[in-house]
Amino acid sequence: MNQSNDHKLITMFNQKKIALIAHDHRKQDLAEWVSINKNILENHLLCGTGTTSRILSDLTGLKIKAFHSGPLGGDQQIGSRIVEGDIDFMIFFWDPLSAQPHDPDVRALLRIAALYNIPIATNNSTADFLISSPFMSSEYTRHVIDYNSRLHPN
Ligand code: PGA
Repeated sequence: MNQSNDHKLITMFNQKKIALIAHDHRKQDLAEWVSINKNILENHLLCGTGTTSRILSDLTGLKIKAFHSGPLGGDQQIGSRIVEGDIDFMIFFWDPLSAQPHDPDVRALLRIAALYNIPIATNNSTADFLISSPFMSSEYTRHVIDYNSRLHPN
């Protein structure tokens, strides 16, 4: 992690640390997308919320570190890993048609991901664009606002 004015520079290496999450009505979509892109995804480090991870692992054989289920705190765990620099890319197929009991957690995760300048795909077409980016197989430097230096200059 480097420093530049009031931004931190965070290097995403060739091997990306990717979180995979899907709400119940979007799990099928994500499962199909992951199956299609298995050959690319297997080159990266994968994690996800509990149920999503298990479904995707069973279907594809990919190694995916499972956090708790989303409604039981999994979204919060993933948010905390983003803050710690352990996740740098997120595929999150959230459901625009159903209310979620853990909506505050979902909003918190999306907020943290935006704050930390994480690439996020929330639907198949965005995921297709992201995964076909040349940055998937090269280094990329993310600029993250350093609020600490804004609050305490010098
Ligand atoms: P799940 O969680 O993978 O455990 O279903 C997803 C979510 O609802 O955030």
